[in-house]
Amino acid sequence: MDAKILPFTSEYELHLMDESKKTGHAESIAFPKTAEEAAEILRYCNDLAMPVTVQGSRTGVGGGAVPLGGMIMNLEKMKGLKSGKDGETVIAGAAVPLEEISRFVRRQSGDSLFLPPDPTETTASAGGVVCCNSSGARTFGYGAMRNFVRRITVVTADGKILDIERGRFFAKGRRFDVSLPAKNGAPFCLELTLPSYNVPAVKNAAGYWIREDMDLIDLFIGAEGTLGVITEAEFDLAEKPPMIWGLIAFFGEEDQGVAFSESLKNTPGHGCISIEYFDRGSLDLLQDKQREMKGTLSWHVPEGFSEAVFLEVTAASKEEMLQRIGRIETEIRRAGGDPDDAWIAGSSRSFQSFKELRHATPESVNARIAENKKSHPGITKLGSDMSVPEGRLPETLKMYREDLRNAGLVFVIFGHIGNSHLHVNVISRNEEEYARGKQIYAGWAKAVSEMGGSVSAEHGVGKLKREFLQIMYGENGVREMRELKKVLDPKGILGRDNIFLWK
Ligand SMILES: Cc1cc2nc3c(=O)[nH]c(=O)nc-3n(C[C@H](O)[C@H](O)[C@H](O)COP(=O)(O)OP(=O)(O)OC[C@H]3O[C@@H](n4cnc5c(N)ncnc54)[C@H](O)[C@@H]3O)c2cc1C
Repeated sequence: MDAKILPFTSEYELHLMDESKKTGHAESIAFPKTAEEAAEILRYCNDLAMPVTVQGSRTGVGGGAVPLGGMIMNLEKMKGLKSGKDGETVIAGAAVPLEEISRFVRRQSGDSLFLPPDPTETTASAGGVVCCNSSGARTFGYGAMRNFVRRITVVTADGKILDIERGRFFAKGRRFDVSLPAKNGAPFCLELTLPSYNVPAVKNAAGYWIREDMDLIDLFIGAEGTLGVITEAEFDLAEKPPMIWGLIAFFGEEDQGVAFSESLKNTPGHGCISIEYFDRGSLDLLQDKQREMKGTLSWHVPEGFSEAVFLEVTAASKEEMLQRIGRIETEIRRAGGDPDDAWIAGSSRSFQSFKELRHATPESVNARIAENKKSHPGITKLGSDMSVPEGRLPETLKMYREDLRNAGLVFVIFGHIGNSHLHVNVISRNEEEYARGKQIYAGWAKAVSEMGGSVSAEHGVGKLKREFLQIMYGENGVREMRELKKVLDPKGILGRDNIFLWK
């Protein structure tokens, strides 16, 4: 075999963890450079029924890239970035980080096109964002990564290299009977009955994405490395709005920011592509960070506010932008806030500092967990990722706060209020608090599922939210997912125990 499989040594220790801070173990590691090398390695592992955990940049927060034995297939050497289809798409090797894709597209298109989904962590890889169907703040305006994936190259568990382009292979009802040419050998025949559930009509990244008459590419998007290894992805690009300004509104009382966000969504002509919420805990955490960094940060959070809402506002001209800002200011006042407390960023430098502030929130949560883990190794990140149907967010947020306050837990709530999707993070100080938090989350998973929401709107299930998936889709739904995987990966080597337990 040309491709190398290396014994696992302490040199690779960092590869046992992702941003969930869960730690795993592995016997070997490989760094294939091409789809052909990945195929060769997979054929070898499949013959031995050896589990293979695929890794992109390991920024995932669900433990999906954390190996539980077997081999790590790390794709960091799969580089390569070029324009496709008259410059209207971009083609990236699995390892290319989002920040590099953005820079490339900006340069190639003269800053007229962009890849809208912005999962905050710009080091996430092209393959990783496809496999997690990542989304982030701009999902409010543009939807998740799925909407932008035009074509993928996938290597199957038994080493077939397939090119799957959107619009080519469809299910008939809930049945796939398709034959795909493989780049390396006999065609790949897929005979598969899809699970009987439907994905909910909310922002969702929980389990396999199933619809009647679905496109085959959508089965692989969001499959968290369990159905194939994606070695290359082609993304559609969108026209960049002529102007994007940032606005952060601060509110003195709890729920004012929530009321503002909810009414803004129903205000025509606001031009927002993202609406992001920060609770008091988030603002406190950011203030702690600015004290720690002693004035070296590009942003500063003022004292005395209970909530904040960050908006990205688009417009075709300055005149239209000012009209839109005027409308937003009216909504700030209506919710009980003062537009004079709001910050507006028109220049790209100040806008960038808003984005840095936004990113500092989840980063600070992750850092705090990593710190607490040093003295309490049994804890990992305990962050919820649930979305609810439109209009149900205020009552859901009330439930979150009441349950956590009653349990005496320290928490931070922030995120994508525009999509009725907030991240609740318990900052566990010990294993006992961690266990208490987990129990509360399971109760929410039930409540949110009963509302028609999702237990994972964007981070995926990984290895940390399998029980929640079972609550959402029931035992039958999870059994059907396992049956589906068995058709593509009969020995269960790929991403074993991601999404559901293999056995
Ligand atoms: C501070 C912070 C903020 C974040 N904010 C957001 C946010 O707002 N929205 C959001 O959606 N996400 C967010 N994320 C999550 C993260 O960026 C995504 O989960 C990301 O898409 C994962 O990409 P990755 O390359 O790091 O994948 P990894 O973490 O390496 O892997 C993630 C999963 O995909 C599988 N995988 C990776 N690459 C491949 C491949 N090529 N083929 C097959 N399987 C593969 C892995 O096996 C694993 O199951 C955040 C993360 C951090 C650290």
